Amino acid sequence: MILETFDYYAPNSLAEVFDIVESVGEDFKFLAGGQSLIPMLKMNLIKVSSIIDLKKISDLSFIKEEDGQLIRIGALVKYVEISESDLIKKHLPILSYASRKVAHQLVRNRGTIGGSIVFGHPAADLCVISVLLDAEMEIVSRGAVRYVNANRFFLGSLTTNLKQNEVLKSIRFKIPKENYGWSFNKLSLSHGDFPLLITATLIRRSGNTIDDIKIALGGVADTVVRAKEIEEFLKGKEATEENIYKASKLASSIYNPSPTLEFSSNYIKKVMEVYLRRSINEAYNMA
Ligand SMILES: Cc1cc2nc3c(=O)[nH]c(=O)nc-3n(C[C@H](O)[C@H](O)[C@H](O)COP(=O)(O)OP(=O)(O)OC[C@H]3O[C@@H](n4cnc5c(N)ncnc54)[C@H](O)[C@@H]3O)c2cc1C
Repeated sequence: MILETFDYYAPNSLAEVFDIVESVGEDFKFLAGGQSLIPMLKMNLIKVSSIIDLKKISDLSFIKEEDGQLIRIGALVKYVEISESDLIKKHLPILSYASRKVAHQLVRNRGTIGGSIVFGHPAADLCVISVLLDAEMEIVSRGAVRYVNANRFFLGSLTTNLKQNEVLKSIRFKIPKENYGWSFNKLSLSHGDFPLLITATLIRRSGNTIDDIKIALGGVADTVVRAKEIEEFLKGKEATEENIYKASKLASSIYNPSPTLEFSSNYIKKVMEVYLRRSINEAYNMA
């Protein structure tokens, strides 16, 4: 549990970051809040010869509304800042809620949205929200910028589309134009533990009919998933008990969660069905 030695850099700007990246070779990691990286280093799960700490870079720390269309969040913004932001409470209440539910206060005070997304755990709260809300990742390298939708960003467990020399600069969320009801449920072994399963749902309704629906699931596959088949099944249907039950069974036929030390795959599937029904009902009733 003792950290190996490494060279430590704390640049003040992105330009300085890329100078350092070009000088240290491949064997480095960026550091944000350290809530995943430091435990991994302490447990010897990864080794690096250099750490490039991003925390002095003010360009990565902001929450902005743009043209009334977008909310842009800098990668270094902490969970606690997201959950307390009035702008996010107003326009993206499910993101505010989910940030408040991550781990416990100590992790929320240091962990960042960018670090969580780049870490790319298949059941991480904000990875689920970014997929649910079709967030766009703004990715920068020396002299270049590119944007990747969250639905194409996560490639496998702890594997993303980001290249070694790239920095996640910000995450852009579209402000929903219409009223959506939402629901966010997660199962953890005990309070503050990493989630085993997450269901997140957005619903727009027209009378008794589900007009539009988005569902993202965490912990049921190698990456966070958008449950497109379930969305298609429910779109345009009445939110009857029978339809919602069929939707949850459809999810069970598609996803095969990996077993954990405590639970079998079948048990997690059963819980997924229950959580999905709850999530759809809650979002529908709020819409
Ligand atoms: C006790 C405990 C409980 C936890 N519970 C939960 C939970 O309930 N839900 C949950 O979702 N997570 C949970 N986590 C995980 C944690 O929330 C996130 O994984 C963590 O906050 C990542 O953000 P960070 O800023 O700490 O990133 P770091 O740990 O500093 O970095 C994580 C990775 O991202 C890279 N990185 C960071 N920022 C950038 C960037 N801008 N550009 C490029 N690369 C970057 C780093 O190189 C590293 O590989 C828990 C962690 C702990 C220690």
